[in-house]
Amino acid sequence: MTVAEFRQRVIGFLDASIAEDIACPSFGAIMPPAMFERARAWQQHCFANGFAGIDWPTEYGGQGLSFDHAQAWNDECARRGVTAYMNFQGFILAGGAIRKYGTEEQKQRYLRATLAADILWCQLFSEPNSGSDLVSLGSRAEPTGDGWLVTGQKVWSSTAQLAQYAILLARTNPQEAGHRGISFFLFDMNSPGVDVRPLTQMTGDQEFCEVFLTDAPLAADDLLGPLHGGWTVATSVLADERSAVGAAGIGLRRSLDQLVTPATTEDEVARDRLLDLTATGGALGQLLNRSAGNPLLGPLTKLGLTEIASRMTTFAVDTQGPAGMIDNDATEPFLYAPGMRVAGGTSEIQRNLIGERLLGLPREPKQKR
Ligand SMILES: Cc1cc2nc3c(=O)[nH]c(=O)nc-3n(C[C@H](O)[C@H](O)[C@H](O)COP(=O)(O)OP(=O)(O)OC[C@H]3O[C@@H](n4cnc5c(N)ncnc54)[C@H](O)[C@@H]3O)c2cc1C
Repeated sequence: MTVAEFRQRVIGFLDASIAEDIACPSFGAIMPPAMFERARAWQQHCFANGFAGIDWPTEYGGQGLSFDHAQAWNDECARRGVTAYMNFQGFILAGGAIRKYGTEEQKQRYLRATLAADILWCQLFSEPNSGSDLVSLGSRAEPTGDGWLVTGQKVWSSTAQLAQYAILLARTNPQEAGHRGISFFLFDMNSPGVDVRPLTQMTGDQEFCEVFLTDAPLAADDLLGPLHGGWTVATSVLADERSAVGAAGIGLRRSLDQLVTPATTEDEVARDRLLDLTATGGALGQLLNRSAGNPLLGPLTKLGLTEIASRMTTFAVDTQGPAGMIDNDATEPFLYAPGMRVAGGTSEIQRNLIGERLLGLPREPKQKR
């Protein structure tokens, strides 16, 4: 099927789903818990109708089509403000890692179930003292002979209170303080020794959690990739996290258009800021069109998108004058935007990556461990 033919099928499916009120409104990379039932029903509907995992292999429940077909799906969803998949952590992070590094048994076990929304994933990477400096993480997996017992504390784990599985980083070689001692696991969140405590953000939502692990069991086949070699898998996941822009350019265009109101065009100072945002956003939109699927440009697009979102949401509140101090439609995006400059690697870290990997500047000095 050509991309054009597929796009027509997508349009028909989405328009019918919107008319029947089945389609789930777009919510970005982190699913608000209140959207869970709606998002799951939508994902099940997509799976049943052949619109889940567009470019995933058919033997694992996908549609076996190309990256361009997947982009057509993302584009048409974005045009209609519909979510393209329910669980970023499952579809992009865990799904990408299992497809690249999983054994046949792991692929069979997890991929179809993820696409069908039978299982939801979270990402247990960050720890209280290891965020940007993730390689210093301290969670330990002690060998038991036929597996491991993992102990440690994770934090900022999005959707952990709803997830059945996690991608988990833990240190399997305590002699190695750096990346060589880390392994990557597919972890059952219903295991004994798991305590998930939701955290309240300044939006009032509880989208992420603290996760305490105390001697939680891991089986031998929960290991993804080589023992002590999990850092390679982790860096691949982090690159996917930065570069999964989907059809962000379309969402960006819509957000920029929504900023054009009498309040932002009639006042000279506001108009000047609006022009600046429109020019920057237009350039970023062009970059997004050119960078789709290019992991090297991930830091650039991640930085650009989260920084402009922060500026746009601040502008939307500022230009309301005193009304901006009252909780209204502009409040939630304004309070949400700063977190996105941190999630998936902070803006400072993206700048470091751009400097070192794209511009070839000298690497920042490493701290002694
Ligand atoms: C909304 C949200 C969702 C998240 N979801 C998840 C999730 O599902 N799973 C998960 O594992 N994690 C998640 N995180 C955690 C996220 O990955 C970390 O917060 C992030 O990597 C930063 O780590 P940190 O919070 O420990 O800050 P730190 O690393 O302590 O950084 C503190 C400050 O120092 C700056 N800084 C640090 N190192 C450098 C440096 N080398 N050069 C310049 N500046 C530096 C940072 O930019 C930042 O401003 C989420 C975070 C947020 C906000």
